[in-house]
Amino acid sequence: MDQVLEVNEQDFDCVVQPGVTRTKLNEVLRESGLFFSVDPGADASVCGMIATGASGTTSVRYGTIKNNTKNLEVVLSDGSILYTRGKGRRPWKSSAGYNLTDLFIGQEGTLGIITSACVHLHPRPQAFSAAVCGFKSIKSAIDAVVNIRQMAIPIARIEFLDEEQIKACNLYNEGKSEYLAERHEECPTLFLEFHGASESEVEQQAITAEEICTANNGRKFKWSVDSQVINRLWSARHHAYYATIGTKKGSKGFSTDVCVPISRLADVIVNTKKDLDEHEIYGTIVGHVGEGNFHVLLAVDEHNSDEMKQTWEFSDRLVK
Ligand SMILES: Cc1cc2nc3c(=O)[nH]c(=O)nc-3n(C[C@H](O)[C@H](O)[C@H](O)COP(=O)(O)OP(=O)(O)OC[C@H]3O[C@@H](n4cnc5c(N)ncnc54)[C@H](O)[C@@H]3O)c2cc1C
Repeated sequence: MDQVLEVNEQDFDCVVQPGVTRTKLNEVLRESGLFFSVDPGADASVCGMIATGASGTTSVRYGTIKNNTKNLEVVLSDGSILYTRGKGRRPWKSSAGYNLTDLFIGQEGTLGIITSACVHLHPRPQAFSAAVCGFKSIKSAIDAVVNIRQMAIPIARIEFLDEEQIKACNLYNEGKSEYLAERHEECPTLFLEFHGASESEVEQQAITAEEICTANNGRKFKWSVDSQVINRLWSARHHAYYATIGTKKGSKGFSTDVCVPISRLADVIVNTKKDLDEHEIYGTIVGHVGEGNFHVLLAVDEHNSDEMKQTWEFSDRLVK
């Protein structure tokens, strides 16, 4: 069940089966001028994203999977088939009855198996620019994020990587010429991306963001409209998880996932790093900071019960 069943270009939506991944869907859409926006940083299936209530790098601009799901076909435990918005319907809004679609987002298969999904598509932007900027402290990086949002810059992605994550990425990319000849300075860092209708529009967004980052003690703000430079930058972000587990041979990844109001984000990240140091746990931090969401990535030995106990205790403290 890996087919894209419908693409409704004029309605900005499509219907997919559960085996369709984000990459596959965007390949099918390439000629249409549309794209599917939710990108959790892994090539997940669209229905898997719905089942886990995923967000991702572009949610700050295009919303989470919740904002992008229109209708679901679900098989319930007695074998009956349910359409959460009615069979074949693709409404932008409905005020009729309960919101059953949302009930099945994040249910991880406990209420039913999603056998097809109608999701929103977005017009592919005509122009892109991307930037990277290191900061003196976590607080100054997060303050820059808040200011960028306050200035209503329609930022498409704004991702935070702490110095440990940058170190792991530099190590992972060493000798991989197709990804990065470029090493990033090992400090709290923001990766940013801007989408617009023209090159001048995305340049202007980058220039305004640079002014804000500089005012918040940002170091060098490097930006580009060159698609190769942009792809190289995001390849570092997309490989962050693998870079972290690459630091410890034979380890598996363990990722926490918490979200707070942005005004509390700097505090919670600083305290989390303190907790890691105090308990001598190695972890890297990446965050979709435009929404106050961040992950601590840990490289764990799943067969070491003491280590797993310590890992779960850390995760519990973080969630609390
Ligand atoms: C490197 C990495 C980074 C990530 N970063 C983020 C992030 O930043 N933000 C975020 O929100 N998430 C993130 N995730 C989590 C990601 O969103 C989920 O792992 C992914 O969406 C799950 O999709 P999948 O196709 O891999 O599903 P699976 O892993 O196969 O399944 C996930 C769960 O959903 C259920 N499920 C899957 N398909 C269906 C279906 N058709 N019907 C009913 N239940 C189903 C499964 O039973 C299981 O419980 C990340 C994951 C990875 C590996």
